[in-house]
Amino acid sequence: MIRLYDTMAREKREFEPQDPKRITMYVCGPTVYGRAHIGNARPYVVFDTLARLIRREFGENSLVYARNITDVDDKIIASAEAEGVDPSAITERYEQLFLEDMRALGVRDPDVAPHATREIAQMVAMIERLIELGNAYEAEGHVLFSVPSDSDYGVLSRRDRDAMVAGARVEVAPYKRDPADFVLWKPSTDGVIGWDSPWSRGRPGWHIECSAMIRAHLGETIDIHGGGLDLIFPHHENEIAQSRCAHGGAPLARYWVHNGFVDMGSEKMSKSLGNIVTPGELLAQGHKGETLRLALLSAHYRQPLAWTSELVRKSKQRMDKLYRLTRDAAPTQADQRVIDALSDDLNTPLALSRLVEIEDPSVLRASAQVLGLVSRSYQDWFQRSLPAETGRFATHFGEMSATVAGTATADATIVRGEEYIKAKIAERATAKANRDFGSADRIRDELKAEGIVLEDGPGGTTWRRE
Ligand SMILES: [Zn+2]
Repeated sequence: MIRLYDTMAREKREFEPQDPKRITMYVCGPTVYGRAHIGNARPYVVFDTLARLIRREFGENSLVYARNITDVDDKIIASAEAEGVDPSAITERYEQLFLEDMRALGVRDPDVAPHATREIAQMVAMIERLIELGNAYEAEGHVLFSVPSDSDYGVLSRRDRDAMVAGARVEVAPYKRDPADFVLWKPSTDGVIGWDSPWSRGRPGWHIECSAMIRAHLGETIDIHGGGLDLIFPHHENEIAQSRCAHGGAPLARYWVHNGFVDMGSEKMSKSLGNIVTPGELLAQGHKGETLRLALLSAHYRQPLAWTSELVRKSKQRMDKLYRLTRDAAPTQADQRVIDALSDDLNTPLALSRLVEIEDPSVLRASAQVLGLVSRSYQDWFQRSLPAETGRFATHFGEMSATVAGTATADATIVRGEEYIKAKIAERATAKANRDFGSADRIRDELKAEGIVLEDGPGGTTWRRE
């Protein structure tokens, strides 16, 4: 039995899906205009871990997990203008980098990844419905949601009205009937990305994207809606208002799950504060994805997580230990105490502490894999631990390099040692002396492919790196 802390109920509740054969989960995805930082990555690692647990409990095909891509937004438009490119150039670039970073962190791709720009028709339809029902109105090419029309508004964040207006930092605009009203549709000026609609050539507000895409892909009421704590208000509050009003009062989600922030020093990590560290930078420094994943899971997901170099160092030690303890054992059955810890509101720190108490390497490997850890071979893990300046992997020469070359994965570029190269030059010289020019050329070409250039001169063969 899985228990989850439900932000709406303000307590842990037993997780009982509407349909255990089709459990639905939606997590608000990134707005793709810049590189994700470690704080942005936290919810995706947390909900990936929850998805693994649900699939383990209810069956591999029991879950439909949707994570959207917000690919139309004022920040995207501003970035595109600054670079003088089409917004799609910005969004395609950063979506690709986002996916690469997530995969490096062991985050599996979601089952559904709706893109806002491909679902405009569904958003327009939902907005039309809200206007018909009297929950939204048109003004000067805009459409606004009428907050006073929804008597349950504020049910998730439980804020009073003044705090809501202040917290939303809403634009005061002359066309708004109430300061708390928020945008469903806004007009685009000439040259700015937009779509035709009954109200103006324009673009959707951020909140309506999620409501419309949830409805289109998962249904009116989903099991789990997730995201960072900062999304509770106004984003999730507004999603709830739109969806519930459009769907005759049906609740949007049965469990609301929110993760805490990642802090740098005493501040929240955020792009606007300029104190960010990205998975991309950490990976380029030679840290491995599973080390970063363990670091992100080392605190309970609802607690703040302080990101420090000490945390990364300790996480690497913990990962090294897990690989030493498991060696190349094949995973068998996961340990029930680890599953119990995860089932209790995803208590990853407790689950991690229980891992190292497991004596059977096969059980340990199976248990770690429930957390998305220890997915590599022992050899692969420690091979990747060799000195990794500039993201390359140094190795020794002779027999050992042959072994390493035989097991190297595609992304582990091997920097050949000098002894290895000298041995190859000697081998080539022998081949030439035997008039075996085919072998001599092959050796030269193989080295060339690795960035090592041989030059024949009067004093013999010398080499240099390209
Ligand atoms: Zn959302």
